[in-house]
Amino acid sequence: MGRIILFLLVPFLSYASVVVPFTWKDGESFLTFLERKKLPLNLFYNLDKEDQKATEDIPFNAHGQFLVNDKKQIEQVLIPVNDELQLHIYRAHSKKYEMHVIPIISETYKEVLYAPLTSIPYDDVLGASGSKKLAAKFTQIFKNKVNLKKQPKEGDAVVMTYERIYRLSRPFSMPEISGAMIILGGEKYALYRHSDGNFYDANGAQIEKFLFKSPMRNARITSGFTKRRYHPVLRRYRAHLGIDYGARPGTPIYATGDGKVSFVGSTRGYGKTIKIRHSGGYMSLYAHLKGYKQKLHSGLSIKQGDVIGYVGSTGLSSGPHLHFGMYSGSTPINPSSVMKKKSEGFSGKELRVFNDIKHKLDRIFIRKLKEKPVAKKWIDFQDIYYVDKDTFKVQAF
Ligand SMILES: [Zn+2]
Repeated sequence: MGRIILFLLVPFLSYASVVVPFTWKDGESFLTFLERKKLPLNLFYNLDKEDQKATEDIPFNAHGQFLVNDKKQIEQVLIPVNDELQLHIYRAHSKKYEMHVIPIISETYKEVLYAPLTSIPYDDVLGASGSKKLAAKFTQIFKNKVNLKKQPKEGDAVVMTYERIYRLSRPFSMPEISGAMIILGGEKYALYRHSDGNFYDANGAQIEKFLFKSPMRNARITSGFTKRRYHPVLRRYRAHLGIDYGARPGTPIYATGDGKVSFVGSTRGYGKTIKIRHSGGYMSLYAHLKGYKQKLHSGLSIKQGDVIGYVGSTGLSSGPHLHFGMYSGSTPINPSSVMKKKSEGFSGKELRVFNDIKHKLDRIFIRKLKEKPVAKKWIDFQDIYYVDKDTFKVQAF
């Protein structure tokens, strides 16, 4: 009997810890965070170059968590680097702190939403889905093509398919629309996401307005943008939150768009760095520079195509290249999703790929407009959950 009670108690004893949520402060560096929380600074210094750089990209306002035991000691810390990877600090059995970059465990589902139009589309999509993010995304892709303020007629509706990431059976992260159709005033208009990640209309014309241009002329891309990549040799996960262009030291770098210089200076990871703020809440970052254009300073207005600096290898860089990052707010985005690549429509194999995508989506639109399914409502959900240190499995608390 005594043994059974002891056995039952063990799980409760080891869980006499509490989860304390926190948000990443603006301007906080990983080192100052460790210092402030009295965690060993070696957690940072033991990281390799790439992972040290990744800590400079923790978005401010990121939702992290401490697991604190009854002696007020930190048992674990989770800090999301993006919506796919997180830093996991934990006290190992040796009682020493260790850190790993681990994936945020989630499932991705394809969903379809049908919403009859009775007012403005934003309100109807929000009303049917419960998701402000989905409503905002829908409005964003259609706003330059359709007059969304038009009064709807009887039979007007919106239908769309999208992918959404779920964690612990609740939606998380921004939904990715794959295609959407709006019938407004009896007129149909549809948009399709091509395999390049951009939206096109039924004729294959690109619909998004591209503000930005490549920061290099004729340079080759040596490493693309990825939120999560598994390195089979190092056997670890890492992110690369920008595009690398290989070029000789001294090669000029051009401003990707009009804007205002917001930072000129050095960081440990990125070396000599320039940041430019653009309209629409975008920011561009140019790193590992050899030097800056003369008289470049914070607050200076810049035109697209102006030379701002020169390729180098400063900071934690393995050779001369430009690391180019784009941010929406403080969230890194894929620069190629906002840079113009082509102006004409598709041809050849690419046209066949696009038509395939379009036909599949059209079939779904037609079927769902007939079926008029009622959507499940979800509230968007932000938190990262506690991960068990032994199994790395997500646990509710
Ligand atoms: Zn890079």
